[in-house]
Amino acid sequence: MSDSNKEQILIEILNTPLRSGGELLFYCPKCKHHKPKLSCNLRKNVFKCWVCNFTGTNLTRLVKRYGSHKHKQEWSRYDDKIDLSSTSFADTLFGEQEANETLLNLPKEFISLTGKHNPLSNIPLRYLHERGISKQDILKWKIGYCPDGEYGGRIIVPSFNLDGKINYFIGRSYRDDWMKYKNPPLHKNSIIFNELYVDWDSDLVLTEGVFDAIVAGNAIPLLGSTLPETSRLFQEVAKHDTPIYIALDPDAEKKAKYLIRDMLQYGIELYKIDVRGFQDVGSMTKQEFVERKNSALPMNAESLFKYQLQGII
Ligand SMILES: [Zn+2]
Repeated sequence: MSDSNKEQILIEILNTPLRSGGELLFYCPKCKHHKPKLSCNLRKNVFKCWVCNFTGTNLTRLVKRYGSHKHKQEWSRYDDKIDLSSTSFADTLFGEQEANETLLNLPKEFISLTGKHNPLSNIPLRYLHERGISKQDILKWKIGYCPDGEYGGRIIVPSFNLDGKINYFIGRSYRDDWMKYKNPPLHKNSIIFNELYVDWDSDLVLTEGVFDAIVAGNAIPLLGSTLPETSRLFQEVAKHDTPIYIALDPDAEKKAKYLIRDMLQYGIELYKIDVRGFQDVGSMTKQEFVERKNSALPMNAESLFKYQLQGII
């Protein structure tokens, strides 16, 4: 029976459980409560912690998150459900996707801020500094600017695809231009901004803008506040079964609610970060963001209903 093999793997990862009816009660690796409160049901393939509400509709999530490489391999041998790690999962769910990605060149006036200091760069550097963006952020995000040209007076943040090629960039004015952003036209649903740097095995934050994502760490900007189910990003999130933290601007509550509803339909582990009191994540310090993330509200059908009643979302 594959269930007893799978039980054995869970025990190796989470230690000996208490048994209660058809359920196994483990110590919760997430909240580390001193009593075994993480209830797992192998037959139904679900788990829930009664303390921190860590919930999932697939035990594979526990194995992927807390197991070793060996555990993951063994698990996939006994798992007769759809293999979440295979690319065919997305195809099964969403149908074959055409690879219709367009590559871009950065504007020819682009000057990188990652290299040696150039006195010409003082103004854009000061702008970034005032926004709380550090030298490390500049290096990590490969930030630059254009002194003139079509994107003149704009900070440029490039997006790299998995091959390390540029598939998009954003241009944010550092000179009080009437148009804050000037970006290339985009089939927004076909790219994942900076996919090259995304860690799908860690908590992943979805933000509206790139400057929000810089504060949030392992984060992807939606470049807006909506995310259709047919978009590549939505598909990848479902495929990787990554825990998602939604951190949209406070004025996009309604759109956040739609996104939460859509993602819950795919059984995605979901949390909502309260950004109220700030204009957006980009105006928080990293420390402020971490605090908000640590107190994010877990989202499931039940909590969604409750939060709707309370007017939280
Ligand atoms: Zn817990």
